[in-house]
Amino acid sequence: MKSTENYFKQIERLKNVLDISDAVIIGAGAGLSTSAGFTYSGERFDKYFSDFKNKYGFTDMYYGGFYPYKSPEEYWAYWSRYVYINRYEPAKSTVYTDLLELIKEKDYFVITTNVDHQFQKSGFDKHRLFYTQGDYGLFQCSVPCHNKTYNNEDIIKQMMKEQKNMRIPTDLIPYCPKCGKPMTMNLRSDNRFVEDDGWHIAAERYSNFIRRHKNMKVLFFELGIGENTPVIIKYTFWNMTYENPNAVYACVNLKNYIYPNEIKKQSICINSDIRKVILDLKHC
Ligand SMILES: [Zn+2]
Repeated sequence: MKSTENYFKQIERLKNVLDISDAVIIGAGAGLSTSAGFTYSGERFDKYFSDFKNKYGFTDMYYGGFYPYKSPEEYWAYWSRYVYINRYEPAKSTVYTDLLELIKEKDYFVITTNVDHQFQKSGFDKHRLFYTQGDYGLFQCSVPCHNKTYNNEDIIKQMMKEQKNMRIPTDLIPYCPKCGKPMTMNLRSDNRFVEDDGWHIAAERYSNFIRRHKNMKVLFFELGIGENTPVIIKYTFWNMTYENPNAVYACVNLKNYIYPNEIKKQSICINSDIRKVILDLKHC
């Protein structure tokens, strides 16, 4: 189904739902961070990666992240920049804090495929967050020989500072403290992804939250979920909305959206920039 409702009618309707809802479950994807200024191509990519662009022809950060570099020194030169600018540098826009302002009085929970830590950095309660796909701020063993993750802030900042000619110094290459094999990013790209204790605790908190609000007035608030990973958030939100007549499914996305006809009456889908929608909701 495609919606043709007038934009401001949709905003008003969504604000009303937000006001009367018992709980808000935010499902966030890459589009939310893009709206907050964390763009992975164009000017921002050129600013930090022009040397890699010239050497390999990369056009965005994702692409370079998958490249099989010949040396770990070059691999970490790339990844330390990638992590630093997307995880440790402060956000330039207030999209995340505006979102928090909008929902902080509600009983809320966030499930996200984003790995850039912006919810925590913006003051969201970490006990109400489930990062399903990992965190740029964590390393894990590449094997992996054990299920633990390691905070990488100090080492990433050091790699940033000491790299020259697209290479970090050899003695900064991180190795597993248990088996001695190389460390890697704690990001889900294959079945070697480590789901550490924190991941399991968050997963349990999320399913408890869902269970506690079963059949209540729940707003499933989907922000910037693309077509790459719809299974984790989008499809489960559709199903939970379908199963609960008191639930509303709201979706905000820059690109065209679709949703099933079965939940048409329970859906508010807004085809616009997330930042604009959040601000309009705040002032509505
Ligand atoms: Zn290991």
